[in-house]
Amino acid sequence: MISVSTIKSYMFCPLKLYFQSNIDEDVEEDYFISKTLKDLRIDIQDILHKNLRHIKKGMDENEIEKRLSIGISNQVKTTFEIIEEINDKEDIDESNLKKDEEIEFIDEEKKEKENDSLKELKKELINEINLNIKILSLKVSQSMKVLDKDGGEIQNLFFPTSMYNYLIRDIGLDLIGVIDKIEVEKGNYFPISLKSSNPPINGVWDGDFMEAIANALLIEQEFNTYVTVAYIDYLKIADRRAVIIDTDARKSFFKVLTSVNKIVENGEIPTVKTGLKKCENCEYKELCDNS
Ligand code: SF4
Repeated sequence: MISVSTIKSYMFCPLKLYFQSNIDEDVEEDYFISKTLKDLRIDIQDILHKNLRHIKKGMDENEIEKRLSIGISNQVKTTFEIIEEINDKEDIDESNLKKDEEIEFIDEEKKEKENDSLKELKKELINEINLNIKILSLKVSQSMKVLDKDGGEIQNLFFPTSMYNYLIRDIGLDLIGVIDKIEVEKGNYFPISLKSSNPPINGVWDGDFMEAIANALLIEQEFNTYVTVAYIDYLKIADRRAVIIDTDARKSFFKVLTSVNKIVENGEIPTVKTGLKKCENCEYKELCDNS
């Protein structure tokens, strides 16, 4: 069964997918961090939703912002403590297996790099959360004025009925995926992908486009419904972008799915252009340069 994340890897680079499927086994750590941060974002949505219920009409924007933020920095702090703790434990386990002095020196360097990248991740996440709270505060303040209602009465405007991290496995499509968020409004289902990456200037990235179609198809099978639009939330700039799930989108998805199957199931080596900008930080650069 093909996973939606496999399709995303293919969209980044078919050859990278080939290496991941046929050579690499060491992707667990990255997966753990990205899953934990995704869960954190969902927890923050929950906190914001709860805090919104305590916002009253007379409050100014600063006060709304403060009230909405209650409990969020603690949640961020705790999550990063957990990530650091698990990283430390993995490093200890690894170094117990290696006793060589040179390797220990290399491990120190590795540790420093890991710490720097965690700090950077945390900084980016805090900026993203602050931006989102500011925007939400402005919208809440304006909506309360216009509708003459308290926060608790307008919560559905900002937090429609949703399901988070929804796993769907469909035998017919031979596809499995965890959908970040499914919003349900008036019986219609909308798949939402939450992205912490930089957004493109226009539209959505190709990989996000394919993920949106895959999610729409999975929802159609699971809920016996028809999905016409999916959304990508680029959290860094608090921007929601639509993906129309029309016939062309569906056709292009199945074309990609066939190619992915050839690589994953049959071990077919794809031909791609190397030496591109995306290759600079790719962990398989050396393999490609030498081939
Ligand atoms: S180095 Fe470039 S071509 Fe090679 S796997 Fe990575 S992204 Fe693909």
